[in-house]
Amino acid sequence: MSTPTGFMEYRRQIPADRDPMERLQDWEEFHKHMNEEDLRTQGARCMDCGTPYCHTGIEMTGGTSGCPVNNLIPEWNSLVFRGLWQEALERLHKTNNFPEFTGRVCPAPCEGSCTVGLIGQPVTIKTIEEAIIERGFAEGWVKPEPPAMRTGKRVAVVGSGPAGLACAAQLNKAGHSVIVYERADRIGGLLTYGIPTMKLDKGIVERRVQLLEAEGITFVTNTEIGTDIPAAKLMADYDAVVLCGGATKPREFAIEGSGLKGIHYAMDYLNGTIKSYLDTGLEDNQYITAADKDVIVIGGGDTGTDCVATALRHGCRSITQFGTHAQAPLERDPVANPWPQFPNVYTLDYAHEEAKALYGQDPREFSIMTTKFVGDEEGRVKELHTVQIERIVDDAGRKIYKPIPGTERVFPAQLVLIAIGFDGPEQTLVDRLGLETDRRSNVKAAYGKYATNVERVFAAGDMRRGQSLVVWAINEGREAAREVDLYLMGSTLLP
Ligand SMILES: Cc1cc2nc3c(=O)[nH]c(=O)nc-3n(C[C@H](O)[C@H](O)[C@H](O)COP(=O)(O)OP(=O)(O)OC[C@H]3O[C@@H](n4cnc5c(N)ncnc54)[C@H](O)[C@@H]3O)c2cc1C
Ligand code: SF4
Repeated sequence: MSTPTGFMEYRRQIPADRDPMERLQDWEEFHKHMNEEDLRTQGARCMDCGTPYCHTGIEMTGGTSGCPVNNLIPEWNSLVFRGLWQEALERLHKTNNFPEFTGRVCPAPCEGSCTVGLIGQPVTIKTIEEAIIERGFAEGWVKPEPPAMRTGKRVAVVGSGPAGLACAAQLNKAGHSVIVYERADRIGGLLTYGIPTMKLDKGIVERRVQLLEAEGITFVTNTEIGTDIPAAKLMADYDAVVLCGGATKPREFAIEGSGLKGIHYAMDYLNGTIKSYLDTGLEDNQYITAADKDVIVIGGGDTGTDCVATALRHGCRSITQFGTHAQAPLERDPVANPWPQFPNVYTLDYAHEEAKALYGQDPREFSIMTTKFVGDEEGRVKELHTVQIERIVDDAGRKIYKPIPGTERVFPAQLVLIAIGFDGPEQTLVDRLGLETDRRSNVKAAYGKYATNVERVFAAGDMRRGQSLVVWAINEGREAAREVDLYLMGSTLLP
Protein backbone atom coordinates (compact mmCIF):
# COMPACT_ATOMS: atom_id res chain seq x y z
CA MET A 1 0.00 0.00 0.00
CA SER A 2 1.15 3.57 -0.67
CA THR A 3 -0.04 5.18 2.58
CA PRO A 4 -3.27 4.20 4.34
CA THR A 5 -4.43 7.80 4.64
CA GLY A 6 -3.00 9.35 1.47
CA PHE A 7 -6.41 9.73 -0.17
CA MET A 8 -7.52 11.91 2.77
CA GLU A 9 -4.31 13.94 3.00
CA TYR A 10 -3.68 14.82 -0.63
CA ARG A 11 -5.91 16.27 -3.32
CA ARG A 12 -6.05 14.89 -6.86
CA GLN A 13 -3.76 16.70 -9.23
CA ILE A 14 -3.32 16.25 -12.97
CA PRO A 15 -0.67 17.95 -15.10
CA ALA A 16 -1.79 21.24 -16.63
CA ASP A 17 -2.11 21.08 -20.41
CA ARG A 18 -0.32 23.64 -22.58
CA ASP A 19 -2.21 26.90 -22.89
CA PRO A 20 -4.88 26.46 -25.63
CA MET A 21 -3.94 29.67 -27.44
CA GLU A 22 -0.29 28.61 -27.51
CA ARG A 23 -0.88 25.04 -28.63
CA LEU A 24 -3.21 26.16 -31.45
CA GLN A 25 -0.11 27.55 -33.15
CA ASP A 26 1.45 24.12 -33.66
CA TRP A 27 0.72 20.41 -34.14
CA GLU A 28 2.58 19.17 -31.09
CA GLU A 29 1.19 17.25 -28.10
CA PHE A 30 -0.96 19.33 -25.78
CA HIS A 31 0.04 17.40 -22.64
CA LYS A 32 2.55 18.59 -20.09
CA HIS A 33 4.31 16.37 -17.58
CA MET A 34 4.31 16.32 -13.77
CA ASN A 35 7.40 16.56 -11.62
CA GLU A 36 8.57 13.53 -9.63
CA GLU A 37 7.50 14.83 -6.22
CA ASP A 38 3.94 15.49 -7.39
CA LEU A 39 3.76 12.09 -9.07
CA ARG A 40 4.82 10.34 -5.88
CA THR A 41 2.21 12.29 -3.92
CA GLN A 42 -0.46 11.25 -6.39
CA GLY A 43 0.69 7.63 -6.08
CA ALA A 44 0.17 8.01 -2.32
CA ARG A 45 -3.55 8.63 -2.88
CA CYS A 46 -4.09 5.00 -3.96
CA MET A 47 -5.63 3.16 -1.00
CA ASP A 48 -4.90 -0.36 -2.38
CA CYS A 49 -8.53 -1.26 -1.74
CA GLY A 50 -9.65 -4.86 -1.24
CA THR A 51 -11.45 -5.06 -4.60
CA PRO A 52 -9.62 -2.77 -7.01
CA TYR A 53 -12.19 -2.26 -9.77
CA CYS A 54 -9.63 -0.05 -11.51
CA HIS A 55 -7.81 -3.09 -12.88
CA THR A 56 -10.78 -5.29 -13.75
CA GLY A 57 -11.71 -4.16 -17.26
CA ILE A 58 -15.27 -5.14 -18.14
CA GLU A 59 -18.04 -3.91 -20.40
CA MET A 60 -20.89 -2.36 -18.43
CA THR A 61 -24.03 -0.87 -20.00
CA GLY A 62 -22.27 -0.14 -23.28
CA GLY A 63 -19.15 1.44 -21.72
CA THR A 64 -15.90 0.20 -20.23
CA SER A 65 -15.34 -0.02 -16.51
CA GLY A 66 -11.80 -0.55 -15.22
CA CYS A 67 -8.63 -1.27 -17.19
CA PRO A 68 -9.06 -3.67 -20.15
CA VAL A 69 -5.44 -4.85 -19.98
CA ASN A 70 -5.78 -5.40 -16.21
CA ASN A 71 -2.89 -3.12 -15.36
CA LEU A 72 -1.66 -3.81 -11.81
CA ILE A 73 -2.51 -0.26 -10.81
CA PRO A 74 -2.36 -0.39 -6.99
CA GLU A 75 1.01 -2.17 -7.20
CA TRP A 76 2.68 0.41 -9.42
CA ASN A 77 1.08 3.30 -7.56
CA SER A 78 2.72 2.03 -4.41
CA LEU A 79 6.09 1.52 -6.14
CA VAL A 80 5.98 5.05 -7.57
CA PHE A 81 5.13 6.46 -4.14
CA ARG A 82 8.24 4.70 -2.79
CA GLY A 83 10.40 5.97 -5.68
CA LEU A 84 10.91 2.44 -7.09
CA TRP A 85 10.44 3.45 -10.73
CA GLN A 86 12.22 0.54 -12.39
CA GLU A 87 10.18 -1.97 -10.41
CA ALA A 88 7.03 -0.03 -11.33
CA LEU A 89 8.03 -0.29 -15.00
CA GLU A 90 8.46 -4.04 -14.73
CA ARG A 91 5.00 -4.40 -13.24
CA LEU A 92 3.52 -2.15 -15.93
CA HIS A 93 5.09 -4.07 -18.82
CA LYS A 94 3.69 -7.34 -17.45
CA THR A 95 0.22 -6.35 -18.60
CA ASN A 96 0.66 -3.58 -21.16
CA ASN A 97 3.06 -3.69 -24.11
CA PHE A 98 2.56 -0.01 -24.95
CA PRO A 99 1.89 2.17 -21.88
CA GLU A 100 3.27 5.17 -23.78
CA PHE A 101 0.20 4.97 -26.06
CA THR A 102 -2.44 4.35 -23.40
CA GLY A 103 -0.80 6.84 -21.03
CA ARG A 104 -1.51 9.48 -23.69
CA VAL A 105 -4.76 8.53 -25.44
CA CYS A 106 -6.69 6.19 -23.14
CA PRO A 107 -9.94 7.68 -21.78
CA ALA A 108 -8.92 6.05 -18.49
CA PRO A 109 -11.91 3.91 -17.54
CA CYS A 110 -9.71 2.85 -14.60
CA GLU A 111 -10.20 6.29 -13.05
CA GLY A 112 -13.99 6.08 -13.54
CA SER A 113 -14.04 2.96 -11.37
CA CYS A 114 -11.39 3.96 -8.80
CA THR A 115 -12.70 3.39 -5.25
CA VAL A 116 -11.40 6.76 -4.04
CA GLY A 117 -13.69 8.24 -6.69
CA LEU A 118 -16.68 6.97 -4.71
CA ILE A 119 -16.16 9.62 -2.08
CA GLY A 120 -14.04 12.18 -3.93
CA GLN A 121 -11.68 12.57 -6.86
CA PRO A 122 -10.10 9.38 -8.28
CA VAL A 123 -6.39 8.60 -8.25
CA THR A 124 -4.39 10.13 -11.14
CA ILE A 125 -3.75 6.73 -12.75
CA LYS A 126 -3.22 7.54 -16.44
CA THR A 127 -0.66 10.28 -15.74
CA ILE A 128 1.32 7.95 -13.50
CA GLU A 129 1.25 5.25 -16.20
CA GLU A 130 2.72 7.62 -18.76
CA ALA A 131 5.32 8.90 -16.30
CA ILE A 132 6.53 5.35 -15.51
CA ILE A 133 7.13 4.43 -19.15
CA GLU A 134 8.68 7.78 -20.07
CA ARG A 135 11.02 7.46 -17.08
CA GLY A 136 11.88 3.98 -18.37
CA PHE A 137 12.83 5.33 -21.78
CA ALA A 138 14.73 8.27 -20.31
CA GLU A 139 16.76 6.02 -18.00
CA GLY A 140 17.50 3.50 -20.79
CA TRP A 141 15.59 0.73 -18.98
CA VAL A 142 13.42 -0.05 -22.02
CA LYS A 143 15.65 -2.19 -24.22
CA PRO A 144 15.01 -4.68 -27.02
CA GLU A 145 14.50 -8.15 -25.57
CA PRO A 146 14.69 -10.66 -28.45
CA PRO A 147 13.61 -14.21 -27.57
CA ALA A 148 16.36 -16.66 -26.58
CA MET A 149 15.07 -19.35 -28.97
CA ARG A 150 13.01 -19.53 -32.16
CA THR A 151 10.27 -22.14 -32.61
CA GLY A 152 10.51 -22.36 -36.41
CA LYS A 153 6.82 -21.36 -36.73
CA ARG A 154 5.90 -18.43 -38.98
CA VAL A 155 2.97 -16.13 -38.25
CA ALA A 156 1.61 -13.32 -40.44
CA VAL A 157 -0.13 -10.41 -38.72
CA VAL A 158 -2.29 -8.29 -41.04
CA GLY A 159 -2.55 -4.67 -39.85
CA SER A 160 -0.14 -2.70 -37.68
CA GLY A 161 -2.50 -0.88 -35.30
CA PRO A 162 -2.29 -1.46 -31.55
CA ALA A 163 -3.91 -4.91 -31.86
CA GLY A 164 -1.47 -6.07 -34.55
CA LEU A 165 1.54 -4.61 -32.73
CA ALA A 166 0.59 -6.16 -29.37
CA CYS A 167 -0.10 -9.52 -31.01
CA ALA A 168 3.21 -9.43 -32.91
CA ALA A 169 5.13 -8.44 -29.75
CA GLN A 170 3.70 -11.35 -27.76
CA LEU A 171 4.12 -13.94 -30.53
CA ASN A 172 7.70 -12.82 -31.01
CA LYS A 173 8.30 -13.19 -27.26
CA ALA A 174 7.12 -16.79 -27.58
CA GLY A 175 9.81 -17.36 -30.22
CA HIS A 176 7.71 -17.39 -33.40
CA SER A 177 8.89 -15.54 -36.52
CA VAL A 178 6.43 -12.71 -37.06
CA ILE A 179 5.84 -10.58 -40.14
CA VAL A 180 3.45 -7.65 -39.92
CA TYR A 181 1.85 -6.52 -43.19
CA GLU A 182 0.51 -2.97 -43.42
CA ARG A 183 -1.13 -1.39 -46.45
CA ALA A 184 -0.33 2.18 -45.37
CA ASP A 185 3.10 3.74 -45.89
CA ARG A 186 3.73 3.91 -42.14
CA ILE A 187 3.29 1.46 -39.28
CA GLY A 188 0.83 2.15 -36.44
CA GLY A 189 -2.75 1.88 -37.76
CA LEU A 190 -4.92 4.55 -36.18
CA LEU A 191 -2.08 5.40 -33.77
CA THR A 192 -0.37 6.91 -36.82
CA TYR A 193 -3.16 7.69 -39.30
CA GLY A 194 -6.24 8.61 -37.29
CA ILE A 195 -5.29 9.97 -33.87
CA PRO A 196 -3.88 13.48 -34.46
CA THR A 197 -0.30 14.41 -33.60
CA MET A 198 -1.59 16.71 -30.84
CA LYS A 199 -2.77 13.65 -28.90
CA LEU A 200 0.02 11.29 -29.88
CA ASP A 201 3.32 12.38 -31.38
CA LYS A 202 4.23 9.99 -34.18
CA GLY A 203 7.83 9.82 -32.92
CA ILE A 204 6.42 7.92 -29.91
CA VAL A 205 4.95 5.28 -32.25
CA GLU A 206 8.17 5.12 -34.28
CA ARG A 207 10.23 4.66 -31.09
CA ARG A 208 8.23 1.53 -30.18
CA VAL A 209 8.27 0.17 -33.73
CA GLN A 210 12.07 0.40 -33.78
CA LEU A 211 12.23 -1.58 -30.55
CA LEU A 212 9.97 -4.27 -31.97
CA GLU A 213 12.14 -4.45 -35.09
CA ALA A 214 15.23 -4.80 -32.91
CA GLU A 215 13.47 -7.70 -31.15
CA GLY A 216 13.14 -9.49 -34.49
CA ILE A 217 9.72 -8.56 -35.90
CA THR A 218 9.62 -7.80 -39.64
CA PHE A 219 7.39 -4.97 -40.86
CA VAL A 220 6.25 -4.72 -44.47
CA THR A 221 4.48 -1.48 -45.46
CA ASN A 222 2.59 -0.47 -48.63
CA THR A 223 1.29 -4.03 -48.94
CA GLU A 224 -2.39 -4.84 -48.87
CA ILE A 225 -3.24 -8.44 -48.12
CA GLY A 226 -5.95 -9.66 -50.47
CA THR A 227 -4.75 -7.33 -53.22
CA ASP A 228 -0.94 -6.99 -53.36
CA ILE A 229 -0.49 -10.42 -51.82
CA PRO A 230 -3.34 -12.90 -52.42
CA ALA A 231 -4.95 -14.29 -49.28
CA ALA A 232 -4.25 -17.83 -50.53
CA LYS A 233 -0.50 -17.13 -50.71
CA LEU A 234 -0.53 -15.92 -47.12
CA MET A 235 -2.27 -19.12 -46.06
CA ALA A 236 0.31 -21.18 -47.94
CA ASP A 237 3.33 -19.33 -46.55
CA TYR A 238 2.47 -19.13 -42.84
CA ASP A 239 1.54 -21.49 -40.04
CA ALA A 240 -1.05 -19.04 -38.72
CA VAL A 241 -2.54 -15.70 -39.76
CA VAL A 242 -3.87 -13.05 -37.37
CA LEU A 243 -6.16 -10.42 -38.86
CA CYS A 244 -5.93 -7.05 -37.11
CA GLY A 245 -7.16 -4.87 -39.97
CA GLY A 246 -9.31 -2.47 -37.93
CA ALA A 247 -12.84 -1.30 -38.64
CA THR A 248 -12.75 2.01 -40.46
CA LYS A 249 -15.35 1.61 -43.18
CA PRO A 250 -17.15 4.96 -42.78
CA ARG A 251 -20.85 4.96 -41.97
CA GLU A 252 -22.68 6.60 -44.85
CA PHE A 253 -24.73 9.74 -44.34
CA ALA A 254 -27.15 9.72 -47.25
CA ILE A 255 -29.48 12.70 -46.99
CA GLU A 256 -30.48 15.36 -49.52
CA GLY A 257 -27.37 17.10 -50.84
CA SER A 258 -24.80 14.71 -49.31
CA GLY A 259 -23.04 14.39 -52.69
CA LEU A 260 -22.10 18.11 -52.79
CA LYS A 261 -18.47 19.19 -53.02
CA GLY A 262 -16.97 20.17 -49.69
CA ILE A 263 -18.53 17.25 -47.77
CA HIS A 264 -15.91 14.73 -46.66
CA TYR A 265 -15.50 11.75 -44.37
CA ALA A 266 -13.58 12.61 -41.22
CA MET A 267 -10.85 10.04 -41.83
CA ASP A 268 -10.01 11.47 -45.28
CA TYR A 269 -9.73 14.88 -43.68
CA LEU A 270 -7.68 13.80 -40.63
CA ASN A 271 -5.34 11.46 -42.46
CA GLY A 272 -4.59 13.87 -45.30
CA THR A 273 -3.36 16.37 -42.75
CA ILE A 274 -1.34 13.83 -40.75
CA LYS A 275 0.37 12.47 -43.86
CA SER A 276 1.16 15.89 -45.26
CA TYR A 277 2.48 17.00 -41.85
CA LEU A 278 4.73 13.93 -41.54
CA ASP A 279 5.89 14.04 -45.18
CA THR A 280 6.59 17.74 -45.61
CA GLY A 281 5.39 19.72 -42.57
CA LEU A 282 2.20 20.58 -44.56
CA GLU A 283 4.31 22.21 -47.31
CA ASP A 284 2.94 19.96 -50.08
CA ASN A 285 -0.67 21.15 -49.56
CA GLN A 286 -1.86 17.59 -50.21
CA TYR A 287 -4.70 17.76 -47.70
CA ILE A 288 -8.23 19.10 -47.34
CA THR A 289 -7.92 22.47 -45.66
CA ALA A 290 -10.41 24.21 -43.38
CA ALA A 291 -8.64 27.58 -43.74
CA ASP A 292 -11.06 30.53 -43.86
CA LYS A 293 -14.10 28.23 -43.97
CA ASP A 294 -17.16 27.81 -41.80
CA VAL A 295 -16.78 24.20 -40.75
CA ILE A 296 -19.46 21.84 -39.44
CA VAL A 297 -18.45 18.49 -37.97
CA ILE A 298 -21.33 16.01 -37.90
CA GLY A 299 -20.74 13.55 -35.07
CA GLY A 300 -20.20 14.16 -31.39
CA GLY A 301 -17.60 11.44 -30.71
CA ASP A 302 -13.80 11.41 -30.47
CA THR A 303 -13.27 11.37 -34.23
CA GLY A 304 -15.41 14.48 -34.60
CA THR A 305 -13.52 16.13 -31.75
CA ASP A 306 -10.21 15.43 -33.50
CA CYS A 307 -11.66 17.11 -36.63
CA VAL A 308 -12.45 20.20 -34.53
CA ALA A 309 -8.85 20.42 -33.26
CA THR A 310 -7.49 19.95 -36.79
CA ALA A 311 -9.80 22.57 -38.34
CA LEU A 312 -8.79 25.09 -35.67
CA ARG A 313 -5.14 24.59 -36.56
CA HIS A 314 -5.91 25.00 -40.27
CA GLY A 315 -7.33 28.43 -39.43
CA CYS A 316 -11.07 27.88 -39.98
CA ARG A 317 -13.41 30.88 -39.81
CA SER A 318 -15.87 29.13 -37.48
CA ILE A 319 -16.33 25.63 -36.12
CA THR A 320 -19.41 23.77 -34.89
CA GLN A 321 -19.70 20.14 -33.85
CA PHE A 322 -23.11 18.45 -34.01
CA GLY A 323 -24.17 15.56 -31.78
CA THR A 324 -27.52 13.77 -31.65
CA HIS A 325 -27.04 13.08 -27.92
CA ALA A 326 -28.18 15.47 -25.22
CA GLN A 327 -25.64 17.46 -23.19
CA ALA A 328 -24.33 15.26 -20.35
CA PRO A 329 -24.96 16.29 -16.71
CA LEU A 330 -22.24 18.06 -14.73
CA GLU A 331 -22.11 15.25 -12.21
CA ARG A 332 -22.55 11.49 -12.48
CA ASP A 333 -26.20 10.42 -12.13
CA PRO A 334 -26.00 8.00 -9.17
CA VAL A 335 -29.03 6.01 -10.37
CA ALA A 336 -28.67 5.89 -14.16
CA ASN A 337 -24.88 5.92 -14.21
CA PRO A 338 -23.57 4.62 -10.85
CA TRP A 339 -19.95 3.87 -9.89
CA PRO A 340 -18.04 1.83 -11.15
CA GLN A 341 -19.51 2.58 -14.60
CA PHE A 342 -17.63 5.00 -16.83
CA PRO A 343 -18.92 8.43 -15.74
CA ASN A 344 -21.05 10.13 -18.38
CA VAL A 345 -20.48 13.77 -17.42
CA TYR A 346 -20.06 17.04 -19.26
CA THR A 347 -16.39 17.77 -19.91
CA LEU A 348 -14.44 19.86 -22.38
CA ASP A 349 -12.09 17.72 -24.45
CA TYR A 350 -8.86 19.31 -25.71
CA ALA A 351 -10.45 20.54 -28.96
CA HIS A 352 -13.43 22.05 -27.14
CA GLU A 353 -11.13 23.89 -24.74
CA GLU A 354 -9.25 25.29 -27.72
CA ALA A 355 -12.42 26.40 -29.55
CA LYS A 356 -13.67 28.01 -26.35
CA ALA A 357 -10.39 29.86 -25.86
CA LEU A 358 -10.54 31.15 -29.45
CA TYR A 359 -14.26 31.89 -29.91
CA GLY A 360 -15.46 32.15 -26.30
CA GLN A 361 -17.78 29.14 -26.34
CA ASP A 362 -18.04 25.37 -26.48
CA PRO A 363 -18.34 24.54 -30.23
CA ARG A 364 -20.84 21.71 -29.65
CA GLU A 365 -24.52 21.69 -30.53
CA PHE A 366 -26.39 18.91 -28.74
CA SER A 367 -29.63 17.07 -29.64
CA ILE A 368 -29.41 18.27 -33.23
CA MET A 369 -30.01 16.51 -36.55
CA THR A 370 -29.07 17.61 -40.08
CA THR A 371 -32.03 17.35 -42.44
CA LYS A 372 -30.40 18.47 -45.72
CA PHE A 373 -27.37 20.12 -47.32
CA VAL A 374 -27.83 22.96 -49.78
CA GLY A 375 -25.24 23.86 -52.42
CA ASP A 376 -24.35 26.83 -54.60
CA GLU A 377 -24.55 26.96 -58.40
CA GLU A 378 -21.14 25.22 -58.67
CA GLY A 379 -22.30 22.26 -56.62
CA ARG A 380 -20.38 23.23 -53.48
CA VAL A 381 -22.01 22.96 -50.09
CA LYS A 382 -23.05 26.35 -48.70
CA GLU A 383 -25.42 25.55 -45.82
CA LEU A 384 -26.89 22.89 -43.55
CA HIS A 385 -30.51 22.70 -42.45
CA THR A 386 -31.10 21.25 -39.01
CA VAL A 387 -33.77 20.50 -36.44
CA GLN A 388 -33.54 19.87 -32.68
CA ILE A 389 -34.49 16.34 -31.61
CA GLU A 390 -35.57 14.47 -28.51
CA ARG A 391 -35.12 10.81 -27.67
CA ILE A 392 -38.41 8.99 -27.17
CA VAL A 393 -39.65 5.42 -26.98
CA ASP A 394 -42.01 4.67 -29.91
CA ASP A 395 -45.10 2.44 -29.89
CA ALA A 396 -42.92 -0.60 -30.74
CA GLY A 397 -40.73 0.07 -27.67
CA ARG A 398 -37.75 1.34 -29.73
CA LYS A 399 -35.69 4.38 -28.73
CA ILE A 400 -35.86 6.86 -31.59
CA TYR A 401 -35.08 10.53 -32.23
CA LYS A 402 -38.13 12.73 -32.80
CA PRO A 403 -37.77 16.18 -34.43
CA ILE A 404 -39.13 19.06 -32.35
CA PRO A 405 -41.34 21.26 -34.58
CA GLY A 406 -40.34 24.93 -34.76
CA THR A 407 -36.64 24.31 -33.96
CA GLU A 408 -35.39 24.36 -37.56
CA ARG A 409 -32.17 26.32 -38.20
CA VAL A 410 -29.76 27.01 -41.07
CA PHE A 411 -25.95 26.99 -40.61
CA PRO A 412 -23.55 28.37 -43.24
CA ALA A 413 -20.77 25.89 -44.12
CA GLN A 414 -18.20 25.54 -46.87
CA LEU A 415 -16.66 22.40 -45.32
CA VAL A 416 -18.61 19.56 -43.70
CA LEU A 417 -16.91 16.61 -42.03
CA ILE A 418 -18.86 13.40 -41.47
CA ALA A 419 -17.82 11.63 -38.28
CA ILE A 420 -20.86 9.54 -37.41
CA GLY A 421 -19.03 6.28 -36.82
CA PHE A 422 -17.88 3.21 -38.67
CA ASP A 423 -19.60 0.20 -40.22
CA GLY A 424 -17.04 -2.49 -39.46
CA PRO A 425 -14.02 -3.68 -41.47
CA GLU A 426 -13.70 -3.44 -45.22
CA GLN A 427 -14.96 -6.67 -46.75
CA THR A 428 -12.36 -7.48 -49.48
CA LEU A 429 -10.07 -9.61 -47.33
CA VAL A 430 -13.02 -11.01 -45.39
CA ASP A 431 -14.58 -12.24 -48.65
CA ARG A 432 -11.31 -13.55 -50.11
CA LEU A 433 -10.70 -15.69 -47.02
CA GLY A 434 -14.33 -16.79 -46.77
CA LEU A 435 -14.70 -15.50 -43.21
CA GLU A 436 -18.00 -15.45 -41.35
CA THR A 437 -19.06 -12.07 -39.99
CA ASP A 438 -21.37 -11.04 -37.18
CA ARG A 439 -24.51 -8.91 -37.49
CA ARG A 440 -22.37 -5.74 -37.41
CA SER A 441 -20.20 -7.09 -40.27
CA ASN A 442 -17.17 -7.59 -38.00
CA VAL A 443 -15.16 -10.80 -38.34
CA LYS A 444 -16.82 -13.49 -36.25
CA ALA A 445 -14.50 -14.93 -33.59
CA ALA A 446 -15.37 -15.44 -29.93
CA TYR A 447 -13.81 -13.00 -27.42
CA GLY A 448 -11.07 -14.86 -25.56
CA LYS A 449 -10.67 -17.42 -28.39
CA TYR A 450 -10.15 -15.25 -31.51
CA ALA A 451 -10.35 -18.26 -33.88
CA THR A 452 -12.41 -17.59 -37.02
CA ASN A 453 -14.36 -20.18 -39.01
CA VAL A 454 -11.25 -20.68 -41.22
CA GLU A 455 -8.62 -23.04 -39.79
CA ARG A 456 -5.34 -21.21 -38.82
CA VAL A 457 -6.94 -17.74 -39.16
CA PHE A 458 -7.50 -15.59 -36.06
CA ALA A 459 -8.95 -12.09 -35.71
CA ALA A 460 -8.46 -9.42 -33.03
CA GLY A 461 -8.97 -5.74 -32.27
CA ASP A 462 -11.49 -3.49 -34.02
CA MET A 463 -11.77 -5.93 -36.91
CA ARG A 464 -13.38 -8.39 -34.47
CA ARG A 465 -15.09 -6.12 -31.93
CA GLY A 466 -15.83 -3.02 -34.05
CA GLN A 467 -14.44 0.50 -33.52
CA SER A 468 -13.31 0.68 -29.89
CA LEU A 469 -10.32 1.86 -27.87
CA VAL A 470 -6.54 1.49 -28.12
CA VAL A 471 -6.47 -0.32 -24.77
CA TRP A 472 -9.05 -2.91 -25.93
CA ALA A 473 -7.02 -3.44 -29.12
CA ILE A 474 -3.91 -4.12 -27.00
CA ASN A 475 -5.90 -6.50 -24.80
CA GLU A 476 -7.20 -8.43 -27.82
CA GLY A 477 -3.82 -8.52 -29.57
CA ARG A 478 -2.20 -9.99 -26.46
CA GLU A 479 -4.93 -12.54 -25.87
CA ALA A 480 -5.02 -13.59 -29.54
CA ALA A 481 -1.25 -14.19 -29.42
CA ARG A 482 -1.75 -16.55 -26.49
CA GLU A 483 -4.41 -18.49 -28.45
CA VAL A 484 -2.18 -18.69 -31.54
CA ASP A 485 0.74 -19.92 -29.44
CA LEU A 486 -1.48 -22.55 -27.85
CA TYR A 487 -2.71 -23.61 -31.29
CA LEU A 488 0.80 -23.87 -32.73
CA MET A 489 2.58 -25.44 -29.77
CA GLY A 490 -0.12 -27.28 -27.85
CA SER A 491 0.63 -25.27 -24.69
CA THR A 492 1.52 -21.68 -23.91
CA LEU A 493 3.30 -19.61 -21.29
CA LEU A 494 1.98 -16.32 -22.64
CA PRO A 495 -0.31 -14.42 -20.22
C1 LIG B 1 -9.91 9.56 -35.37
C2 LIG B 1 -9.85 8.53 -34.28
C3 LIG B 1 -9.40 8.90 -33.03
C4 LIG B 1 -9.33 7.96 -32.02
N1 LIG B 1 -8.88 8.35 -30.79
C5 LIG B 1 -8.77 7.44 -29.81
C6 LIG B 1 -8.28 7.82 -28.54
O1 LIG B 1 -7.99 8.99 -28.28
N2 LIG B 1 -8.16 6.85 -27.59
C7 LIG B 1 -8.48 5.54 -27.83
O2 LIG B 1 -8.30 4.69 -26.94
N3 LIG B 1 -8.95 5.15 -29.03
C8 LIG B 1 -9.11 6.07 -30.02
N4 LIG B 1 -9.60 5.68 -31.24
C9 LIG B 1 -9.90 4.25 -31.47
C10 LIG B 1 -8.60 3.43 -31.65
O3 LIG B 1 -7.69 4.15 -32.43
C11 LIG B 1 -8.90 2.07 -32.28
O4 LIG B 1 -9.85 1.41 -31.48
C12 LIG B 1 -7.63 1.20 -32.38
O5 LIG B 1 -6.62 1.86 -33.11
C13 LIG B 1 -7.95 -0.14 -33.03
O6 LIG B 1 -6.78 -0.84 -33.20
P1 LIG B 1 -6.64 -2.00 -34.29
O7 LIG B 1 -5.23 -2.44 -34.21
O8 LIG B 1 -7.70 -3.01 -34.07
O9 LIG B 1 -6.95 -1.33 -35.70
P2 LIG B 1 -6.36 -0.06 -36.45
O10 LIG B 1 -5.66 0.85 -35.52
O11 LIG B 1 -7.49 0.48 -37.24
O12 LIG B 1 -5.26 -0.66 -37.42
C14 LIG B 1 -5.62 -1.50 -38.49
C15 LIG B 1 -4.53 -1.45 -39.56
O13 LIG B 1 -4.73 -2.51 -40.48
C16 LIG B 1 -4.39 -2.05 -41.77
N5 LIG B 1 -5.04 -2.93 -42.75
C17 LIG B 1 -6.37 -3.12 -42.92
N6 LIG B 1 -6.59 -4.03 -43.89
C18 LIG B 1 -5.38 -4.41 -44.35
C19 LIG B 1 -4.96 -5.33 -45.36
N7 LIG B 1 -5.84 -6.03 -46.08
N8 LIG B 1 -3.63 -5.49 -45.57
C20 LIG B 1 -2.72 -4.78 -44.83
N9 LIG B 1 -3.07 -3.89 -43.87
C21 LIG B 1 -4.38 -3.72 -43.63
C22 LIG B 1 -4.91 -0.63 -41.79
O14 LIG B 1 -4.27 0.14 -42.79
C23 LIG B 1 -4.54 -0.17 -40.39
O15 LIG B 1 -3.27 0.42 -40.37
C24 LIG B 1 -9.71 6.61 -32.27
C25 LIG B 1 -10.19 6.24 -33.53
C26 LIG B 1 -10.26 7.19 -34.53
C27 LIG B 1 -10.81 6.79 -35.86
S1 SF4 C 1 -4.52 1.58 -19.98
FE1 SF4 C 1 -6.23 3.05 -19.73
S2 SF4 C 1 -7.61 2.00 -18.31
FE2 SF4 C 1 -5.62 0.95 -18.16
S3 SF4 C 1 -4.51 1.97 -16.47
FE3 SF4 C 1 -3.91 3.00 -18.37
S4 SF4 C 1 -5.30 4.74 -18.53
FE4 SF4 C 1 -6.22 3.30 -17.08
